[in-house]
Amino acid sequence: MERREEGRIQIKKNGGAAMKISGLQKFSLIDYPGRTCATVFTQGCNFKCPFCHNKQLIATDKQAELKTIDVINFLRTKENLLQAVCISGGEPTIQGNLIDFIRVIKSMGFLVKIDTNGSRPDIIKELIETSRVDFFAMDIKAPKEKYELLTGTDFDYDVIEQSIQLIKNSGAGLQFRTTFVESLLTKDDMSYIKNVAGEGHKTQEYISAQ
Ligand code: SF4
Repeated sequence: MERREEGRIQIKKNGGAAMKISGLQKFSLIDYPGRTCATVFTQGCNFKCPFCHNKQLIATDKQAELKTIDVINFLRTKENLLQAVCISGGEPTIQGNLIDFIRVIKSMGFLVKIDTNGSRPDIIKELIETSRVDFFAMDIKAPKEKYELLTGTDFDYDVIEQSIQLIKNSGAGLQFRTTFVESLLTKDDMSYIKNVAGEGHKTQEYISAQ
């Protein structure tokens, strides 16, 4: 099992590495490729994708449902049982204490995966430069001209391209993902996206929550 020790870092109650966390999957075989993991769901997202399956996690002004210290303490009990922690959302990169939180997790020896919408290349760059993340899974929602439609947000697509390039050059494990929403994307759109992503692209079929 890959374990990197960075010394034991303490987390103070309500401080240090506190994040807004509203969900914890205590065991998963699918969220980190080839590893057993726990998955942390952060509260708040800067996109409003019309097909989002985690709509309760979008609101940035909503209180966290879990205390970070409780999540950390849970993970401490799994240091010898789980190999990795996946941080998903919501959008993890808008969390103010993400990097400190990851530092704590890494100090326990876990591999770390980030699920991101690619909207914060500045944070992705910092995570890469500090070798904090072992695996990136990034959504590529649409071709450039449809990004606003698929994210419900007026967004500068150049930022997405920056994140794609950073992740491709990071040396970390990677996966680019697209949810194929038949009413919003065409087969040509998907071909375009797969070409932008290159190797490591995965298509997820949209299944309505209705
Ligand atoms: S980026 Fe993800 S969490 Fe945010 S609104 Fe879109 S699908 Fe939902």
